[in-house]
Amino acid sequence: MSNRTAVISGASSGIGAATARQLAAAGYRVVLTARRQDRIDALAAELTDAGHEAVALPLDVTDRAAVDAFAAGLDRCDVLVNNAGGALGTDPVATADPADWRKMYEVNVLGVLHLTQALLPALAQAPPGPDGPGGAPTSGGGTVVVVSSTAAHATYEGGGGYVAAKHGAHVLAETLRLELCGEPVRVIEIAPGMVKTDEFALTRFRGDAARAAKVYEGVAEPLTAEDVADTIAWTVTRPPHVNVDLLVVRPRAQASNTKVHRER
Ligand code: NDP
Repeated sequence: MSNRTAVISGASSGIGAATARQLAAAGYRVVLTARRQDRIDALAAELTDAGHEAVALPLDVTDRAAVDAFAAGLDRCDVLVNNAGGALGTDPVATADPADWRKMYEVNVLGVLHLTQALLPALAQAPPGPDGPGGAPTSGGGTVVVVSSTAAHATYEGGGGYVAAKHGAHVLAETLRLELCGEPVRVIEIAPGMVKTDEFALTRFRGDAARAAKVYEGVAEPLTAEDVADTIAWTVTRPPHVNVDLLVVRPRAQASNTKVHRER
């Protein structure tokens, strides 16, 4: 079995868990991180039982010292999927709680910065592997994925702090790609639109299930976590000289952040 290693943040639910399953199936040893240890332990056990290699290491990505200790404990990192993140509230700018904005900035921007900085030395040393077409050896190199959002590219009323934070994640990815040009590290941004995951809207509405359900009301087929994981796995498994800079993926029923077709 290959020991090519993919670190996935926010692997305890939704897009991160689905990505871990798909990268494990693609032959990566997966390192699962999130704050809820029971969740990532369960996923690691599921993947191990299925014959894959998976380890679970709990981590709060906003805690820089913890991130540095986490990175120091890894022998290798070929792929980093910065997926941990989320939204808090839909309050207008005029009345939003600055504490919510701070939390969203910390996880969606500084969390990405922390993990990326800590793992870049390992990513730059990722060795060649049989990843090319037909299993041909490749030139090697690492891959940084940033899961941003369509909120990283256009705003909407009530988006405020989340939109600002995801714009920050987009700028981080774009700047890093410029700065690493010539180095053997790709920087890929995945920007999903509406994805129906179990927890994203529930977290945004602080546990109010009725409000969370309204987000998807009448939308026949929002994206699933597996749809987004599929795009992540596809970009990651291209040959290393192919850098998918930005992949925007929405459900067919959503033409923009503010235009969604809802069936009555
Ligand atoms: P979830 O709420 O299911 O996943 C969020 C993940 O982030 C959880 O695994 C959570 O784990 C983890 N997380 C949150 N805070 C921290 C932290 N401080 N340290 C470590 N891990 C943390 O949502 P989704 O799967 O839907 O979202 C995944 C990503 O995709 C997020 O970045 C989100 O912004 C983005 N996105 C989602 C869309 C959607 O419509 N669902 C659309 C576009 C982008 P734990 O609580 O265990 O720490």
